[in-house]
Amino acid sequence: MPPMATIYLDNNATTRVADEALEAMTPFYREFYGNAHSAHTLGRRAHEGVEHARAEVAALMGCEGHEAIFTSCGTEGNAIVIRGLLDANPSRRKIVATSVEHPSVLSLLRALAANGSIELEIVPVTADGSVDFKAFIRAVDQTTLLACAMYAQNETGVVHTIPALAEVAHSQGAYLLVDAVQAAGKLPLSLTHLGADFMTISGHKFHAPKGIGALAIRKGISVKPLWYGGGQELGLRSGTEAVPAIVGLGVAARMAREKLTSIAEVRILRDRLERGIVAAVADTTVVGGQQPRLPNTANIAFHNVAADEIVRVLDGEEVCASAGAACHSGVAEPSATMKAMGLPLHIAMGAVRFSLSRYTTAEEVDRAIQIVTRVVTGLRQPAQPATT
Ligand code: PLP
Repeated sequence: MPPMATIYLDNNATTRVADEALEAMTPFYREFYGNAHSAHTLGRRAHEGVEHARAEVAALMGCEGHEAIFTSCGTEGNAIVIRGLLDANPSRRKIVATSVEHPSVLSLLRALAANGSIELEIVPVTADGSVDFKAFIRAVDQTTLLACAMYAQNETGVVHTIPALAEVAHSQGAYLLVDAVQAAGKLPLSLTHLGADFMTISGHKFHAPKGIGALAIRKGISVKPLWYGGGQELGLRSGTEAVPAIVGLGVAARMAREKLTSIAEVRILRDRLERGIVAAVADTTVVGGQQPRLPNTANIAFHNVAADEIVRVLDGEEVCASAGAACHSGVAEPSATMKAMGLPLHIAMGAVRFSLSRYTTAEEVDRAIQIVTRVVTGLRQPAQPATT
């Protein structure tokens, strides 16, 4: 546990594992440690644990159990879809993606485009982070195999209108990958209602352990595996299942679904934090503030202050937040997301992300408002000349 004084506002980076998930995992290390494919009792017990978790994960993702497979993380799920779908469909080579997708999507697509494997078209977003819908319609055509649109953006929390994007993709015979890594546990998910063909989630973003995630694949879509072996997980992810982590994911998925109704409380705290900081600190912009956003995310840009400096000083005050921008050898480099939104440098360089969870308290929020105000005010003050 971090020291009690630590105020953890970096839950979009990763979350604390729920005690309930940890507790459920322990017997699968100590007692039911069989291989989930072994025929004996310990194997059967492990298999039951996996299938019980699969049902919980499918319920969270709004898909059938046989449409959900376990992966190691969001990055892997996205890679299975992109590479596996290309391998299964050699005749369509175009992939369309929004300009604010996570690097697990954009870097892979850029690498594939660079070696000539795909034609890549990037769809811009507006200054407020919403997908340019007209540009999306223009980009997706009859040669498009896959469109990639995340449900909620990791830095700003901006939520994209997935059903409308799905309709466009399907009208051209293309598939839609929805990266729901940031949305899980914060928004209701449904493969069916969103109109997605593929959906990825990652356990460590919603209080499951690190190293476990899931991918939902709409029934009937052919995807080739990235590697071959024992044929586990619909043949798409050979290798002995990480049973304890899967069990932990199942518990976290159940809790995420059951506690979705209380996300309104997280939103109240996020709004309190945002309003408190904006009222106390001059010259701020709430990035993406005009769009529908994740209830736990506040991205506040402090004009003309370096976000990485703010985050460093906040860390010294035991507040954990994050900055996408950084200054390398004196060169200001805003995050790819802020660049894609076209924000002016003096705003983009000062963008700090505060992300809450169901464990965040009102008392922590109030303390954070005071500390952030003091830190930013301090950083804005001109350095005093040294006295002799
Ligand atoms: N997609 C989004 C939107 C993310 O925020 C992240 C992680 O930050 C990922 C994918 C990658 O997830 P993982 O770290 O589990 O590979």
